[in-house]
Amino acid sequence: MSGDHMDVCGLSEAELTAVCLETGLPAYRGRQVFEWVQRLGAADWADMKNISRADREKLAGRLTLRLPAPERVRVSRDGTRKFLFRLADGETIESVLMDYSGDRSRDRVTLCLSAQVGCAVGCRFCATGRMGFRRDLSAGEITGQLLAVTAYMRRADADFRATNLVFMGMGEPFYNMESFLRAARILNEERGQNIGARRMTVSTAGVVPGILRLAEAAPQMGLAVSLHAGTDDLRDTLVPLNRKYPLAVLTDACREYARRTGRRLTFEIALTRESATEAQARALAALLRGMPAHINLIPVNPVAGSTAERPTAARAAAFRRALTKRGLTATIRAEKGVDIEAACGQLRQEFNDFQRNKNS
Ligand code: SAH
Ligand code: SF4
Repeated sequence: MSGDHMDVCGLSEAELTAVCLETGLPAYRGRQVFEWVQRLGAADWADMKNISRADREKLAGRLTLRLPAPERVRVSRDGTRKFLFRLADGETIESVLMDYSGDRSRDRVTLCLSAQVGCAVGCRFCATGRMGFRRDLSAGEITGQLLAVTAYMRRADADFRATNLVFMGMGEPFYNMESFLRAARILNEERGQNIGARRMTVSTAGVVPGILRLAEAAPQMGLAVSLHAGTDDLRDTLVPLNRKYPLAVLTDACREYARRTGRRLTFEIALTRESATEAQARALAALLRGMPAHINLIPVNPVAGSTAERPTAARAAAFRRALTKRGLTATIRAEKGVDIEAACGQLRQEFNDFQRNKNS
């Protein structure tokens, strides 16, 4: 461990212990700091009541503790909450809290985290893709989203905690592999959030080396692949990355992933008028034959400036039947937070448009 002012949110318990030893503090301080930050949601050194002021000052001399700041929080009619966070350098990212009802007895509380500011992949229907790539998030900025949401929610609900994580927010996690994996490992730690890898799912636009790396580095984690189409000609126009990793290469990697991990994959299809056809269903069935897979159909969320249009409900249902008839399992995913622009990158886009109009 070296370097000035490391972000405490991006360090494991073992690393914090090492920092303490280097700073001349007892090893158990590392565990205390880790618990304060990762489990108890301390937003300030002063919150750490069992650590002496002198030791807190020494730690603050080496480590930065700064959670992403909630700039906007929107609550949907269905309870989905969307957070727009401002980072230390002024960039903004989004996190989305789903399924939260406050009923602890049956609550599964899912949080969707961002991995990058913007995205280089540039999918046609995606608001994040439309803004281009700005930068990677650090591991501390990834865990920090969860810590900041937790701190915010605990103001009204002292027992709040997220039970499930999906890495499906802004950006392509597999283009920020090391920080994404580091963040997942930290959130998995027993004395922190203790969220099992089986309760985490990562979504990729189809970065093949990342799929194989995940199989090795985090075989327990769920994998979702944003397929969107069953033919290269259509997928090329929706997900430009398809030119680099075309469907045959991508589905080979998925088969390899299933073989190595013994796990079923999820395929996501943002349904558009062009993709919800009988011909596409046939192509998908041929492509996925024999693969342990579940297909999530998500009628595309309309995004300003995008040409992707959502199909009618009847068309979406017919598409699902065309898949199940061919032996695939598919569900039309209930939409979450449509009224608050919950699709990836939409809130930031709207906020920026609003700022621009205000300033002009
Ligand atoms: N970059 C990764 C993860 C973030 S995007 C990926 O592409 O998989 C998470 C999911 O949201 C992807 O399946 C993506 O296709 C979907 N998505 C993005 N914009 C959408 C929109 N406007 N409507 C519906 N789904 C959308
Ligand atoms: Fe990037 Fe995913 Fe959006 Fe495509 S859908 S532009 S990969 S964030």
